[in-house]
Amino acid sequence: MADNTSCLLPSSTSREILRWGAVSVPYAALWSGEQGRMHVAKCPHAGVLAVCDHEARGTGKPIFGKPHMTRQRELIIDQRCDLCARPLAGRTKVSLSHATFRVSGAEGGCIMQVEPLVHKDCALVCVQHCPSLKRDIDAGTLFVRQVHQHRVQLALLTAAAVEEFCGERRNGIVGHAKVELQRWTERDLRWLEAGNLNIGEKLVRSRK
Ligand SMILES: [Zn+2]
Repeated sequence: MADNTSCLLPSSTSREILRWGAVSVPYAALWSGEQGRMHVAKCPHAGVLAVCDHEARGTGKPIFGKPHMTRQRELIIDQRCDLCARPLAGRTKVSLSHATFRVSGAEGGCIMQVEPLVHKDCALVCVQHCPSLKRDIDAGTLFVRQVHQHRVQLALLTAAAVEEFCGERRNGIVGHAKVELQRWTERDLRWLEAGNLNIGEKLVRSRK
């Protein structure tokens, strides 16, 4: 597969996107050097006690599909893109999550997802490089949603879950942040590709 995505990546910043071979590693991805060292601390992004991972981004190898607890909350609470970690404000926002609509009380229903939103052009990079999203394309199970309105939720863990992660049994500890989709439009791969032609991207895999 052609790799011509470097034009999308930010220049040197504190949230600089690291590469693993030819692949851009999402900002929130956990690295093996960070794994297995969860603890309870005040999250600098959520401002409350939360399960935090050890901070050593870039150490070891990336564990795709497994988010770093603190960086996952940072992206969602600060409303930054899951891939490039730049602000989402003022840009087309996309969800690639498999989370499904669920009915909940008086407000009708929503989609609640743990995956941060992405810019539209970053979403195209994701579907080109992420193995599970490529499998979704082949299987016809890719979800693409253009998000018009959303809000941030913090998930509280059970004391048992905190004990499992951190070795201490505590109540009232936050885990992941979640994105609650409130208004969105169902889209597809074709929509994702349209409007990205100006950056010379082209999906080389066949469409369904
Ligand atoms: Zn982005």
